[in-house]
Amino acid sequence: MSMQTILLKQHIGAPCEPVVAAGDQVQRGTLIAKPAGLGANIHASVSGKVAAVTETAIQIEADAEQPDDFVSIEGETNLELLKAAGLVGMGGAGFPTAVKLNVDLKGGYILVNAAECEPVLEHNMQQIRTKADMTVRGIKYIMEICNADHGVIAIKAKHEKEVAILNEAIKGDDKLSIHLLPDLYPMGEERAVVREVLGTLLDPTQLPSAADAVVINVETVLRAAEAIELHRPAITKNITVIGKLKGGPQAHVFMDVPVGTTVGELIERAGGIDGEYGEIILGGPFTGSATTLDTPITKTTGGIIVTQPFEDLKGKKVGLLVCACGGNENRMRDIAAKMNGEVISVQKCKQAAEIKGALKCENPGNCPGQAQKCINFKKDGCEDIIIGNCSDCTNTVMGSAPKLGLAVHHQTDHVLQTVGKEVMRYLTTSKKLEEAPAEAPAQESPEPHKAEAEKPAVKYTATVNDGMLRIHIEEGKDINIEFPFH
Ligand code: SF4
Repeated sequence: MSMQTILLKQHIGAPCEPVVAAGDQVQRGTLIAKPAGLGANIHASVSGKVAAVTETAIQIEADAEQPDDFVSIEGETNLELLKAAGLVGMGGAGFPTAVKLNVDLKGGYILVNAAECEPVLEHNMQQIRTKADMTVRGIKYIMEICNADHGVIAIKAKHEKEVAILNEAIKGDDKLSIHLLPDLYPMGEERAVVREVLGTLLDPTQLPSAADAVVINVETVLRAAEAIELHRPAITKNITVIGKLKGGPQAHVFMDVPVGTTVGELIERAGGIDGEYGEIILGGPFTGSATTLDTPITKTTGGIIVTQPFEDLKGKKVGLLVCACGGNENRMRDIAAKMNGEVISVQKCKQAAEIKGALKCENPGNCPGQAQKCINFKKDGCEDIIIGNCSDCTNTVMGSAPKLGLAVHHQTDHVLQTVGKEVMRYLTTSKKLEEAPAEAPAQESPEPHKAEAEKPAVKYTATVNDGMLRIHIEEGKDINIEFPFH
């Protein structure tokens, strides 16, 4: 018999208020807590007996035998069903879905975020491989709720198999389409999705509704279909478990894990930790944070990562470069401490704007230049820097930091090394997807001069910004070079 710990705060807003007491019998799907203001219903994810109700959680002693069915939710409309189901943004944001979708887009766009942007997570792609039809029906329900005429699934082009499955699932529906994304971080950031799909760059204070759009995570879409078709509450979550595990570092994807299951139980199901390890991350390598084996998963948990031990910086003087889309300063300090580095300087990317106490990027994934930050680190006496930057900015840091004698570490290094992937440093993929070859001209062109014909075409732009000259060369790969400019 296992104990399920269901947190009262699994969403943006205040913690929910319990509606059960210790000793109550509950069924899978019984409503156990209601929102106090902005929030979402919470249901029992298992059948059993309420063992304790605390300020932060409801603990349920699960019955040995668990039923497949559940207590159905009720609602007059599809939006009411989503509210009753306690659905929240399952990509990590945790915003109550019924509140988000209570909008009239007047023919606008539902943009489905299937970027699965955090490296090493795989549960979104598994969902597409196994539940594409239901996912597509979920998009249609949401389009109807929001009065949207267009549904666009944003997915990385590298997922060729999943793109083909989705193409088949949307075939014949001219309101649905797929938008391919490059393999860069962060393509799944809400405003990055709007920019990539619609070509509109919102400022950090604007919501996607300013572009007549709603951005919604692909698992939330599936759970919406389950709430509407099956009257099923949001009681399970798809999870990727990966890292330093017995049996190897490949990903283990668990579908429909009951909310409240512990991190330790899922790691055991994936084979157990393989010897000495660095830390356990709840979430992805960029936005996740260190956790413990007894932590329960919630409706917003996506990944559990066991890492190899950290590199030892032996007390070296370290600078932290904080990105709005990576770990916050506390998380970066946590990593620095685990690497045995002494933090003497903290800089944040100049596009990381502070909005209501949190950092938001002004143009996610498009580097504003990092050379000045690297010079600041050098002036402050840093020997090494730990950066949490996006793909493009990491590439830019590599254009100046090594020349200044600064050793560069990325906050995702210990994760990527654990699973045998290349660490983030230089861009190895284009920011723009390869375009289809142009059709042959109708008339034969005059033959160009031989030397000219052999010369590769190089497109470049040069900009001067904040006393720095930035040359951006685009030739299959993007290369950013910065020089001090006086
Ligand atoms: S531009 Fe700066 S803040 Fe924005 S994603 Fe890149 S590193 Fe982060």
